[in-house]
Amino acid sequence: MKVELLSYTPNPELLVAAAARTCYSKKPGSQIIKKITTKKASKLIKKLVKIGHHSILEHSVFTFSIEGVSRACTHQLVRHRIASYSQQSQRYVSLENANFVVPPTIRRNREAEEIFNRILEESKNTYKKLLELGVPEEDARYVVPQAVQTNIVVTMNARELLHFFKLRCCMRAQWEIRALAWRMLSLVKKVAPTIFENAGPPCISEGICPEEEFPCKLREMLKRGGKIGNTDKTNNSHNRT
Ligand SMILES: Cc1cc2nc3c(=O)[nH]c(=O)nc-3n(C[C@H](O)[C@H](O)[C@H](O)COP(=O)(O)OP(=O)(O)OC[C@H]3O[C@@H](n4cnc5c(N)ncnc54)[C@H](O)[C@@H]3O)c2cc1C
Repeated sequence: MKVELLSYTPNPELLVAAAARTCYSKKPGSQIIKKITTKKASKLIKKLVKIGHHSILEHSVFTFSIEGVSRACTHQLVRHRIASYSQQSQRYVSLENANFVVPPTIRRNREAEEIFNRILEESKNTYKKLLELGVPEEDARYVVPQAVQTNIVVTMNARELLHFFKLRCCMRAQWEIRALAWRMLSLVKKVAPTIFENAGPPCISEGICPEEEFPCKLREMLKRGGKIGNTDKTNNSHNRT
């Protein structure tokens, strides 16, 4: 997969802090934003996020281009409702030469990979045959597996992103959306380090795990004092959706 941060609110942390300060100041946001320093903004954001004044984070938005992920992945992504999406259409873009995502558990198992590839081949041939028979793309796509690759542009504000990272960076999330979430997190951390300082699954953001009954390599590593290095935490067996 390829993930790019296409665009984001300029100076997202100064803006968030200026909006927050407006609540407690006689001055308007237009004056506050000219005076506020990065250091003061950072301190204010940390304080307000800690006490639950999270709506201030909604002023900063981030737009990502997500390329080469499966439809199975984007189906999970678009369940997050506080966001805007534009996804490649399977009605207007033919899937005749589509590529497919092969899950690592299948790639690692020669027999499974053979079966998987056979079905992909069959589905591609059936898709083509249906088009030749005059069936439109919007109906021929019904034979295409969820592994088919897609592109999507998504815009989320910082508040929703924190929520998204909490759910989808967790080892309980499915491997592909988890890999996507960690990549998105690494991109926004570079441009809004204070807002996303503690972002991630609850074991990182809150120091607690609501799923303690399930084994988790990440939680065990953190307990032993380990640090998050490789953010692409895809190799975990207990996936759900
Ligand atoms: C590990 C995991 C397993 C999952 N398994 C399944 C599954 O088996 N089946 C399935 O269908 N889904 C599953 N999901 C998807 C899940 O149920 C949510 O649809 C998805 O995570 C979107 O999260 P959300 O609803 O919290 O938040 P978002 O849509 O991102 O919204 C953010 C927050 O806004 C608020 N909000 C948004 N809309 C409303 C509303 N209408 N009313 C009130 N408050 C609202 C809520 O506080 C919500 O948490 C799974 C998700 C995860 C992470």
